Amino acid sequence: MSGNPKHIDGKAISEALIQDIARQTQEWVDRGGKRPHLGAVLVGNDGASETYVANKHRMCETVGFTSSLVRCTSTITEEQLLGKIKKLNQDPEVDGFIVQLPLPRHISELHVVESILPSKDVDGFHPSNIGRMALNLPAFLPATPFGIVKMLEHSGIATEGKHVVVVGRSHIVGSPVSILLARNSNPGNCTVTLCHSKTKNLETLCSTADILVAALGKPLLIGAQHVREGAVVIDVGIHRIPDATTPKGYRLCGDVDYEAVLPICSRITPVPGGVGPMTIVSLLANTLDAARGTFYPKR
Ligand code: NDP
Repeated sequence: MSGNPKHIDGKAISEALIQDIARQTQEWVDRGGKRPHLGAVLVGNDGASETYVANKHRMCETVGFTSSLVRCTSTITEEQLLGKIKKLNQDPEVDGFIVQLPLPRHISELHVVESILPSKDVDGFHPSNIGRMALNLPAFLPATPFGIVKMLEHSGIATEGKHVVVVGRSHIVGSPVSILLARNSNPGNCTVTLCHSKTKNLETLCSTADILVAALGKPLLIGAQHVREGAVVIDVGIHRIPDATTPKGYRLCGDVDYEAVLPICSRITPVPGGVGPMTIVSLLANTLDAARGTFYPKR
């Protein structure tokens, strides 16, 4: 457990949810269900992507899933990659799979995402899943926004009627989190303001938020002047910044200036240990739902 009572402890929440997924998986397998299988496609050998994929593989073992990895060189053509995705779409052993982003520049992320069967799109990035999410229909939800909503729920933070300001409108974080929190659901039923780099009066808008979600990818940009007294602050950003006082010469920080904001807010997600650990939970939950055919019937 993290020590500060203002912390929304993503690490502790994720550990409890992972245990629950492991329990549900065992129940599903005991009833004769197929053991869930998560596939991953890794293009090139970017260090961060290698780490993410290895972590996903390890977490699959923890909850009782099987997993597999398709490795491709960074010179693979788009057509060849789409061929590999087609095979995974057709493989009955693979319940869901992810294509680790980012991809080399010569490959269109949109073409790749669109080529994944929606019923195996456990990252929740396919336009079909995004559209279903927007219509409040059952769908695979994108991992980080789903994780944020789960965190609010498990921290007992009521959302109905609250004003949420989301800073950042990316397809993987800002836009979907704004949709999820505006939906007629619980958590949800918020009034949402979505900000981006062309937004005027960012400080004024942010300082009206009951819940402020910072997903702009700029280290420490959100400061005390953006935060209303008593607001809940969700910091999605994760950055390494130089710090000569640490043995490694750097430290991790978010998009929020944590030290400045802590005295003002009522709750805050620390970096690390806040939003980050929740992302993997959503991927595992989606994979279990893919194996059980919760949203799309199994063929
Ligand atoms: P993107 O770079 O794709 O999007 C950033 C968004 O922020 C854009 O919409 C951009 O506006 C907006 N923006 C940038 N600068 C400003 C500014 N000064 N004022 C207002 N808006 C601004 O980032 P992602 O959504 O992919 O990621 C955001 C952060 O979250 C990153 O730090 C990333 O590392 C982290 N992240 C963390 C995850 C986790 O599991 N913890 C998972 C995913 C991301 P515009 O559209 O106009 O360009």
